[in-house]
Amino acid sequence: MIKVNDLHKSFGDLEVLKGIDAEVKEKEVVCVIGPSGSGKSTFLRCMNHLEEITSGDVVIDGESLRDPKVNINKLRSQVGMVFQHFNLFPHKSVLENVTLGPIKVKGISKEEAEKSALELLAKVGLSDKADVYPKSLSGGQKQRVAIARALAMNPKVMLFDEPTSALDPELVGDVLQAMKDLAIEGMTMVVVTHEMGFAREMGDRVIFMDEGIIMEEGPPSQIFDDPQHPRTKEFLSKII
Ligand code: ADP
Ligand code: MG
Repeated sequence: MIKVNDLHKSFGDLEVLKGIDAEVKEKEVVCVIGPSGSGKSTFLRCMNHLEEITSGDVVIDGESLRDPKVNINKLRSQVGMVFQHFNLFPHKSVLENVTLGPIKVKGISKEEAEKSALELLAKVGLSDKADVYPKSLSGGQKQRVAIARALAMNPKVMLFDEPTSALDPELVGDVLQAMKDLAIEGMTMVVVTHEMGFAREMGDRVIFMDEGIIMEEGPPSQIFDDPQHPRTKEFLSKII
């Protein structure tokens, strides 16, 4: 579903991604871990074309982000993204947040968009919040709206960038549960997270990033119980 070939990304003189090769298969859940500043967010943002790639390539379901003939807006609508800080539209109701993309970008009728938005809100446990504004929601509720909003575009892949890092601990569980439900349904997912429990339970594969490269990757059992690279060992010893 996703193929990343020798991806490099620089900001001016600062080379942040130094040659990433990765593959994500359909229905796979790949968790990305690593220290702050290692390039995890930049990696996700390149996969969604929120950042221009410096060299190398990202191919989503057979379409290259660097192919000048590819419609980037269409491609982007197929790659849903959920951010640490939710990024909801504050002056729109929950229902409007979820229906805006499908109506504006996909040209779906308001009626149809609302029907599927209400189904998605039910799925993330927020049926009763359709008509409220983001400011009256908890962080966990906002993040579940953000997940519903991304799903409303009917993406082929979902990217999550530390979706629970900004939440109070007691609110993390509901968001992780919504992500687990999605994984069980067979969504292809790339999840940058510090929730090692989630990575161990739901990850088909774990990628350890450090200093702009993939230092190590493997099944959760290998990464967490028998890490091979000294940097992986050091990182895990600090956080677990
Ligand atoms: P992580 O998500 O692993 O913490 P990031 O991808 O956010 O890492 O950042 C990696 C490095 O890239 C950091 O040194 C950060 O300062 C730098 N960086 C990220 N975005 C930009 C940008 N838009 N302009 C300049 N430097 C950036
Ligand atoms: Mg980050």
